[in-house]
Amino acid sequence: MVALFAGGHLSIYGDILSISRHTCLQIHRSTAWMVTGLLVLHVVLISTIQKSLSLNRTSNLSALIGAGCVVGVSLLTLPYVRRHIFELFLRAHQVLAYILLYATWRHVPPGDRLLRICTITTVALLSIAFLLQLGLLLYRNRVFSLQGWPRARVSCNRPKIDGKPDSDVIIQVRVALTRPVRIEAGQYINLWMPSLTWWSWAQVHPFMVTSWSHSAQETLDILIQPRRGFSRELLKHARAASQGSASLRALIIGPHGLSENVDRYESVVLVASGFGVAAVIPYLKKLVYSYNTSTSRTRRVHLVWEIETLDIAIAVQATLNSLLEDDILKKRYILTISIYVKSDQIIGDVMKFGNHDRAVVYNRSANYDQILHAEMSGELIERLPNAQEEKGESLVMGMCHLREKLPCTNELLVAASSLVRDQIRLILRDYVHQKAKMAVLEYRP
Ligand SMILES: Cc1cc2nc3c(=O)[nH]c(=O)nc-3n(C[C@H](O)[C@H](O)[C@H](O)COP(=O)(O)OP(=O)(O)OC[C@H]3O[C@@H](n4cnc5c(N)ncnc54)[C@H](O)[C@@H]3O)c2cc1C
Repeated sequence: MVALFAGGHLSIYGDILSISRHTCLQIHRSTAWMVTGLLVLHVVLISTIQKSLSLNRTSNLSALIGAGCVVGVSLLTLPYVRRHIFELFLRAHQVLAYILLYATWRHVPPGDRLLRICTITTVALLSIAFLLQLGLLLYRNRVFSLQGWPRARVSCNRPKIDGKPDSDVIIQVRVALTRPVRIEAGQYINLWMPSLTWWSWAQVHPFMVTSWSHSAQETLDILIQPRRGFSRELLKHARAASQGSASLRALIIGPHGLSENVDRYESVVLVASGFGVAAVIPYLKKLVYSYNTSTSRTRRVHLVWEIETLDIAIAVQATLNSLLEDDILKKRYILTISIYVKSDQIIGDVMKFGNHDRAVVYNRSANYDQILHAEMSGELIERLPNAQEEKGESLVMGMCHLREKLPCTNELLVAASSLVRDQIRLILRDYVHQKAKMAVLEYRP
């Protein structure tokens, strides 16, 4: 249970242990199942020994309460509950967990020192996580300074259209920080907007930071997909604002999460579906910057992005265009963008995206087998034109040298649905001998 409770504070302990949020969640889930299994075994064994359970004894009553909490938490984790009332699930889950901890303390015999130490360790870990988060919140946002709290501008890409769902609307949030912060590509922040609704003071939501800079940032950009709770309220505020954007108090906790060291790979393929693009945009910015400043080994970057409708692509078109423009600083380029639209939204099979030949929209689903085969072959990497004569030798040497020296030469960054992830994992098994590596990003839409 020590691991179970510590694992609940995903962001903090994930950072301390340098493991992803997803791994923290897996630890939390597996220890939860183990605790439940042990509890069931404990109850079965005790009931075979003891004929009756006297609730007058504190330890028995606490055992019953603890078992009730475990049953309650198990019911709350049912996918239907989590999907539809996530915020309630989160809060009820926390309350039941604290009651369980207290019941465990009351249930454990006073003489059992090991169990007492475990319970105290759990309380200590919970308190440390709470204090760290509070400290981070106060420090990052200069809560006690005279400057006032940080604010965010919230806007969206289109007004409400009757009969059209809002699922393809993008909410753009720009947080003006009171203390500049350095954020690595792929990291996320927990956003707290206490004045959004009467209930939002009790909510923090994780979001990827799409802006990236090699130095500390004074403003952070976030792209949000409207869902049912907090994000829908945000959309309402953005639409109701008379000047096109609403200004709200917004405090951040973080940054959290791991960042992949992409600069050491020769080719990087970024696979995203829908809003997963929010997780790959900072990597694209970093890769183009590193290439322009000759601080990376990357020679090719390919964004493969699957979307349902073009609206989301149009909303981030300016960002993608500016990346493509930055990418020609060295008169050669590394970035290619392939967008696959599932619904028939373009005329013909292929369409240029913006003014660049390197960004193309396809009217079909992505064929990952074909794409990855081409990328893994290394043939798509642009070589120096003036190195043609010597190329044969030096290039082959370079390739061999590169492949021997680098742990991996191809990297796949994936922020896509689990179906796509499994498909890619299956394809990549054939390229393991070519030292291809797959990294799944923190945000998995
Ligand atoms: C590391 C990480 C990065 C993310 N980055 C982005 C991003 O860049 N853009 C984006 O649109 N979304 C992102 N998300 C998802 C985003 O956090 C949820 O969409 C958001 O919290 C929804 O809030 P809601 O109240 O409107 O959702 P609801 O409609 O109440 O719930 C919809 C779903 O959102 C998720 N969710 C809701 N509340 C939370 C919460 N407090 N913590 C974690 N998940 C929650 C749950 O899966 C839930 O089923 C990210 C999630 C994670 C874990």
